[in-house]
Amino acid sequence: MSIASAPPTSSWTIEDSEELYRVNEWGTPYFSINTDGHVTVSPMGDRGGSLDLHELVAALELRNLALPIIIRFPDILEDRLDRLNSAFAQAISRYRYGGVYQGVFPVKCNQQRHLVESMVRFGERHGFGLEAGSKPELMIALALLSTAGPPLICNGYKDREYIEKALLSQKMGHQTLIVLEQAEELDLVLEVGKDLGIQPQVGVRAKLSVRSIGHWGQSVGDRAKFGLTIPEIMEVVNKLKANDQLDCLKLLHFHIGSQISSISVIKDALREACRLYVELVGVGASMGFLDVGGGLAVDYDGSKSNFFASKNYSVQNYANDVVAAIKDACSEAEVEPPTIVSESGRALASHQSILVFDVLGASDVPKGKPYEPVEEDHLVLHNMYETLQSLGPSNFQEMYHDAQQFKKEAISLFNFGYLSLEQRSRAERLYWTICRRILEEMKAQELETEEKIALEKTLASIYYANLSIFRSAPDTWAMDQIFPIMPIHRLDEEPTERATLADLTCDSDGKLDRFIEVKNVKNLLEVHPLEPQDDGLRKYKPYHMGMFLAGAYQEIMGNLHNLFGDTNAVHISMTKGGYKIDHVVKGDTIGEVLSYVQYEPKDLVEKLRQRTEQALNEKKLSIVESQKLLQGYEQSLNAYTYLKPSGDVSKNP
Ligand SMILES: *Cc1c(COP(=O)(O)O)cnc(C)c1O
Repeated sequence: MSIASAPPTSSWTIEDSEELYRVNEWGTPYFSINTDGHVTVSPMGDRGGSLDLHELVAALELRNLALPIIIRFPDILEDRLDRLNSAFAQAISRYRYGGVYQGVFPVKCNQQRHLVESMVRFGERHGFGLEAGSKPELMIALALLSTAGPPLICNGYKDREYIEKALLSQKMGHQTLIVLEQAEELDLVLEVGKDLGIQPQVGVRAKLSVRSIGHWGQSVGDRAKFGLTIPEIMEVVNKLKANDQLDCLKLLHFHIGSQISSISVIKDALREACRLYVELVGVGASMGFLDVGGGLAVDYDGSKSNFFASKNYSVQNYANDVVAAIKDACSEAEVEPPTIVSESGRALASHQSILVFDVLGASDVPKGKPYEPVEEDHLVLHNMYETLQSLGPSNFQEMYHDAQQFKKEAISLFNFGYLSLEQRSRAERLYWTICRRILEEMKAQELETEEKIALEKTLASIYYANLSIFRSAPDTWAMDQIFPIMPIHRLDEEPTERATLADLTCDSDGKLDRFIEVKNVKNLLEVHPLEPQDDGLRKYKPYHMGMFLAGAYQEIMGNLHNLFGDTNAVHISMTKGGYKIDHVVKGDTIGEVLSYVQYEPKDLVEKLRQRTEQALNEKKLSIVESQKLLQGYEQSLNAYTYLKPSGDVSKNP
């Protein structure tokens, strides 16, 4: 739908907002819009119970939990986990598969304690385990996972300490599988196993030859960072055979990258891996587990396509294809069907959290009534005014070029001293007025030319968002990832502005200017005009926006650029009558982030105290002023790193 032809504000409906922001496409069954024009969250999916996200944010603010804030919904996590498991259960029954499915959650996807604890708790009934990719992650798994049978997959590079812990956990009762990422790891595993008197359960990660796609496509191929080539796998087999330990080899693993948007890539990988699996059984390995890794994608733009921000298959399609491929290969080779393991991270953890942030202000090109030149004004101003006057439906293209020419002229006149600052400012105002008129004209004629898109971009607002993308959405910067972003209220009103979002950092990369569209990326987001609230407290009424589907990877990959710290986070569970706040995880204070870079807050205060004393002596500060500075400094050390809404940030950069 072209916004140019959108109905006027009065007839704007929440359905229009649904269509514009595509909420039903990427958000079902968890996110929708209610009749108040607010985003609603249904954490249990189709099983009922919902809350008004905008009201929830207001309730959190009353509890002194400032924005930006991450709101996590463990119920969504549970629903995602149940869906994945029931998809595999259905596939297993549909294809009469002889084995079982036991997935694992890759801890690296989101290591937050409450999240992993919930995952373990909800996973118990499915025999769902954990995957560790490093020693610290293994230590999380050892402390949290029950020993009653869910798999504990040990990936990543390993040293003796890692392997010792893994083997002892196996003795304790865990279903521990040590996956070799490098051929040399085998010797160490066998050696440590011998020392401890524990027969290891080993897996191999295969470098498949399948070509992956997307941002994470380099995870495969002969030169991939991880995994064993086929000759290396044969070496492992031969070495184990020579040691009479071939029964140690239990698992084949592959992982072809994250966010695999095309099912055909997954199918190709499965075909190769299944053949490899049955061949390994053929050469005498005891096997029993086939681990298909992660890669199950999230449909960020809701287009159900193989666009990088989407996926052209459902979770059920995925489970069906995995089960069918393994069943076929095993039947053909008359091999016992293995336990199927998958390591879906993104698909489980993305939906459960929402980042809510506020907009502090906006920067616009000058608006308002056009300036009407008086006689003394420079000729260039008169020319511009005339251009504006003569602008009409048939000549705006020509007038646009004239206006650009006059603007150039005005700047050049200014540079050579023929135009005063005041005159130049008037010229620029006129120029922007002309541009606005031309854009209106283009919209009225429903033109979609390059020129229109460019003009729309130059005339767009910049909304100042109270967040750091480096902290909260690092993949938008590092990987060109896109997430659904939209206002969480006023959705019964037409969003008449077009904006990019600038974050708080002093980094020109600190912006959001790529937004979801059907199989496409758009550079401007439709937003509502900020409403003034001149009560002395804040300049604008709160304007709250949400970034959705960002529960995977963003939190831990986020960094401290400009020393913006962790955001506040809360965990909300649904109850019979409504919801409850399970946990509050306070974000970093300024004192905390300063201590991360080795500033001791107490020392800083002392240094400042000495300076204020000196300033007092030199009569540069009064005692009242020096106290105000010191007290404010101490208070700020305990305060949030983000901004409190107040004046117009565009005027106080
Ligand atoms: C990162 C990773 C995963 C998780 O991938 P998703 O795309 O998030 O499902 C699974 N397995 C391994 C080995 C990984 O490195």
